[in-house]
Amino acid sequence: MKISAVRGVKDILPEEVWKWQFIESASRRIMENFGFSEIRIPVFEYTELFARSIGQGTDIVEKEMYTFQDSKGESLSLRPEGTAGVVRACIDHHRLQPDSVSKLYYTGPMFRHERPQKGRYRQFYQIGAEVFGTDNPWVDAEILSMLHLLFEQLGISGTVLQINSLGCTECRPVYRKALQKFLRNEQASLCTDCRRRTAGNPLRVLDCKRPDCKEATQSAPSVLASLCRDCMAHFEMVKGTLDLMGVPYEVNERLVRGLDYYTRTTFEILTDQLGSQNAVAAGGRYDGLVEQLGGRPTPAIGFALGMERLAALLPEETNHSRAKPLYLAPLGDAAMERMPLLLHQLRARGIPVDTDYLGKSLKSQMRQADRIGAAYVGILGEDELNDGVILLRNMETKAQTKVPLEGFVDQIAETLAGEGA
Ligand code: ATP
Ligand code: MG
Repeated sequence: MKISAVRGVKDILPEEVWKWQFIESASRRIMENFGFSEIRIPVFEYTELFARSIGQGTDIVEKEMYTFQDSKGESLSLRPEGTAGVVRACIDHHRLQPDSVSKLYYTGPMFRHERPQKGRYRQFYQIGAEVFGTDNPWVDAEILSMLHLLFEQLGISGTVLQINSLGCTECRPVYRKALQKFLRNEQASLCTDCRRRTAGNPLRVLDCKRPDCKEATQSAPSVLASLCRDCMAHFEMVKGTLDLMGVPYEVNERLVRGLDYYTRTTFEILTDQLGSQNAVAAGGRYDGLVEQLGGRPTPAIGFALGMERLAALLPEETNHSRAKPLYLAPLGDAAMERMPLLLHQLRARGIPVDTDYLGKSLKSQMRQADRIGAAYVGILGEDELNDGVILLRNMETKAQTKVPLEGFVDQIAETLAGEGA
């Protein structure tokens, strides 16, 4: 019986895996240029970690986690996001020292039990980065400029960066109260979820996708009007630095995030090209989280981007080809017998080379060579074997030369080196 993949997860097949590799390598390059180092964290953690960081009343923790008990009865969850694990690891390994800044990035699969749709999966990949140890607004702008550069280098256009500030432990409660007061008068127009959120998590109501709720909250008070003096100054500095660097943005005073730990600067990068799955990257400051998870008080900021959504935005004409310089075309049994050693010697010299294992005709082998983008094809038929040569065809100029079988490896290495291949 055929067994299919689990609903909502997807295979990344060789034809499109280049997009993931391309995004990953561009991101790594840029993030390392900005001074970030990679950290690899586990795919599962104690459920408690996510409940305490992301927040008990959030959709992620309430409805979307893959939670299970191990044989000792411990409650574990597949990670729905990366920040909690990175913070946990930094605390575990005493990496957050006072007066020092650490910049970390991660990439890997995340798991959320959501309704599968195009651009929304139950296993999806994120690249994320975190900066610990400073609340300098310069760093907020730097993170955003890094994302801006990344999108530019990936050739992705038509995205909009929206920013907002959610205030701090001092001014957020003031806003929360003002918003609650407003929402209590709008209960009749809100969905059941939002009526429930009014008491526990009123900011999330602003993030509800239902048209009725959007309409009802049109004239909700703005969080920016409630910011304390420090938070306002911080936000002004972030904007000023972005202006200085020429990073375009819009202020969206309704932008809130589905996770509880955010403070001050929050942001999203949106596209109009992916239907309702319009967020490609998101993040913000979380100055209280490290302490909340048992570390010393450490301000921090981070982001995560969704690789599936980014992959869908990559321009078709992206140049991702990695030409294999050499293809060997054996014709007949005697030639095929020569292949294993010859290929082994070429590969030992670091020369990318492929061949035909199926005894195909010259014509179909040439087609295959074209498909893999070979610069040269080495043809070894009966005549060549008798003469002790390989017929080397330059696929671009179509010129053919006879290269002695003895010393073929040296000669091809030299030819390719001469071309800088
Ligand atoms: P959304 O509003 O689309 O549900 P989110 O606010 O839940 O996104 P975050 O937790 O901020 O998303 O994750 C950061 C990014 O990860 C998102 O901007 C998106 O690109 C991607 N992402 C989140 N959930 C999924 C998913 N289920 N499938 C694919 N990508 C996802
Ligand atoms: Mg979500």
